[in-house]
Amino acid sequence: MKDLKPIIDDVTGCRRPIIIAGPCSAESLEQVMTTAKGLKEAGIDIFRAGIWKPRTRPGGFEGVGVVGLPWLKRVHEETGMRVATEIANRGHAQAALEAGIDILWIGARTSANPFAMQEIADAIAESGLAEKLTVLVKNPVNPDLELWIGALQRIYNAGVRRLGGIHRGFTAYGKHAYRNQPQWHIPFELARRYPSLPILCDPSHIGGHRELISPLCQQAMDMGYEGLIIESHCNPDEAWSDAAQQVTPEMLAVILDGLTIRDVRQTTESLGMMRREIDRLDNELIEVLNRRMAICRDIGRYKMEHRMPIVQTGRYDDILNSRARAGQEMGMSPEFMRSVFSSVHEESVRQQIEVHKKGITDGNGCAL
Ligand code: PEP
Ligand code: MN
Repeated sequence: MKDLKPIIDDVTGCRRPIIIAGPCSAESLEQVMTTAKGLKEAGIDIFRAGIWKPRTRPGGFEGVGVVGLPWLKRVHEETGMRVATEIANRGHAQAALEAGIDILWIGARTSANPFAMQEIADAIAESGLAEKLTVLVKNPVNPDLELWIGALQRIYNAGVRRLGGIHRGFTAYGKHAYRNQPQWHIPFELARRYPSLPILCDPSHIGGHRELISPLCQQAMDMGYEGLIIESHCNPDEAWSDAAQQVTPEMLAVILDGLTIRDVRQTTESLGMMRREIDRLDNELIEVLNRRMAICRDIGRYKMEHRMPIVQTGRYDDILNSRARAGQEMGMSPEFMRSVFSSVHEESVRQQIEVHKKGITDGNGCAL
């Protein structure tokens, strides 16, 4: 995914953050237009509203369906805002494309399903509209980066170049402060692998409560996200879906005004120096690890000569516990220390197995 273009060029092209806002669901023409006008006044350029709503259980409000498409067109005509909606299958894609919707997003339940993703990608390719279309792919409900990347690639392969990701958090069993766990390392890894892919943050679905929107927006901005997609409703408490997490357009304006936007591209000389120091320390770490592995290979030979098993669980336990304690004394979390040393141990075992394999193929079972 290399030759990507900005998600939006003219309206918000160079502005950071890109803001997409609107109700979770389009409920009526009146609710859509009242919310859209409020958002326009709040300075929003892109309006969102779901018309097909994937619900966890049957019986909930499943969206108004195609009757909502002309409402979105009307928002565009009356306010000039671009409009975005969610699609989840071929039929939705075709209807939304025919109606001229500018931006399509794919929800978290759909991006987890490669069959659905492929049929959407095929519908986009067949429409001949891929080139001018913007498509945003939410992370799948489960914390599976490969599945998210696969979903993005299917849309990219359909010819879409105005492509972006939306981080909306990941499902976890049980009750938690956030509705969906952020697991920030997953979108970070996506950004590391695809530096030109814009990623927006969806604080509404991560937080699940309106009080969490402002801090999550600030966190996303501090972390360098390209933009935000936020649920906003003219009468949030009466919303037909996701009532607890929606804010009025007026409240959204206050939240956005309060954000501190840092220039993430700026690097100063002292930052550069500190980064060079980090590079030097990382190289030192690699050399130390290499020396440790060389000793492990010697231990492997010793164990082989003395017909001892490679993994001795008592020793493994000691390593994890003592390193966790030592690290904790220096202010590092014991979980972090355990995960570092379990990876180091795994590589040591692998290297010892290699020594054994080599010993056997060299035919000198003992004296390597
Ligand atoms: C939505 O944006 O309203 C929505 C259904 O989101 P998600 O797919 O993230 O649950
Ligand atoms: Mn929603």
